[in-house]
Amino acid sequence: MNQETLKNHYGERRELQKTVETVAPYKEIIDVIKESGGEAFKLCYQCGLCDTVCPWNRVRAFSIRRIIREATFGLTEIESEDIWRCTTCGRCPQECPRGVEQIELGVSLRRIATEYGVFPAPVKPIRTISAGLVAQGNPFGEERNNRAQWTEGLSVQPFTEGMDILYFPGCYPSYDPRLKKVARATATILTKAGVNFGILGEKESCCGESIRKTGDEELFKRLAKENIRTFIDSGVKRILVSSPHCYHTFKNEYPEFMVNFEVIHISQYLFELIDKGRLELTKEYRKNITYHDPCYLGRHNGIYDEPREVLKKIPGLVLDEMPDSREDSLCCGGGGGRIWMETPKGERFSDLRLEQAMGVGAEVLVTCCPYCITNFEDSRINMEGGESLEIKDITEIIQEVI
Ligand code: SF4
Ligand code: SF4
Repeated sequence: MNQETLKNHYGERRELQKTVETVAPYKEIIDVIKESGGEAFKLCYQCGLCDTVCPWNRVRAFSIRRIIREATFGLTEIESEDIWRCTTCGRCPQECPRGVEQIELGVSLRRIATEYGVFPAPVKPIRTISAGLVAQGNPFGEERNNRAQWTEGLSVQPFTEGMDILYFPGCYPSYDPRLKKVARATATILTKAGVNFGILGEKESCCGESIRKTGDEELFKRLAKENIRTFIDSGVKRILVSSPHCYHTFKNEYPEFMVNFEVIHISQYLFELIDKGRLELTKEYRKNITYHDPCYLGRHNGIYDEPREVLKKIPGLVLDEMPDSREDSLCCGGGGGRIWMETPKGERFSDLRLEQAMGVGAEVLVTCCPYCITNFEDSRINMEGGESLEIKDITEIIQEVI
């Protein structure tokens, strides 16, 4: 549907809503949803199980069930902030008895809003993010040329054909001051283990996973194609990533472009290096820690055990589980592009997660996703007693014990 047709559609619909009580299904909106891969929504029988598990209902009222019902009748309020709330955490699809693909439906509604140019106030930052991605290949609008600045002082080489592995840090570990520490810890570990690795530096672009979930399919395709061309031209076969979002899109979405690269998340690679005796954990880490499963590593890709196994091998470390762990993990709030949107205090899932971590007596909350770390650090700073809890990526702990 082009912009003009959409405008007419919504204009006419508002007029109709004013004048009639019962509104017939609107074929066009349903067609757009179907075209965008969200057509399983019609299987919904309104049982409400999705709303029971959705993390939003721990902080405010929100009903994905209602959004599905409205879409069934073509009555989606495209101006409403609600269509932007879903963090694509994956919790409700795993509970749904009818196989309704809530995430695909939600993304298809955002595609309509994006095409129509309708962004409610808390969603408006997406415009600046998109501009940065278009101009510089990263959401911060930082200079592409500075993408490898995180390597300063380290002996990290540009990737060349024949190297064992490409390390793809992604946008946050490349540019964000807090997350740069994660990229540096990763490179230090790889060097210590004697891994023959390189990076793409300024040739690396955002993986595109999150902008796709905000409904900007065109920009996703552009970023994906740029990366794929670079991988092929550089002779890349195996890609190591820090972010579960890069992992997810390289593994499950880039194959839509008829390519297949071997993708490995750092938590899996650490397990492999330790298991093969290439990395020795020689020092103690005498702290009580708890591990948070990132949605895109756990629920979306089934990686629960390797990070825990790595942590359990560290001498002196005590691992306690929080409520809502593994398949039931509580989302940090950063998926689906929500990392770029405004979430008012009192509605942040990350605040609840920190309370859970402190509740099990953890001194350190460990995870392995740049978005989770960003949200947790933010909550920690703003929370009373937050200074008693450290937030760490798994690589930052390993770096301390090798
Ligand atoms: S759990 Fe599935 S069937 Fe039940 S209301 Fe939600 S989407 Fe519909
Ligand atoms: S995917 Fe997660 S955030 Fe989105 S509606 Fe389902 S439970 Fe809620």
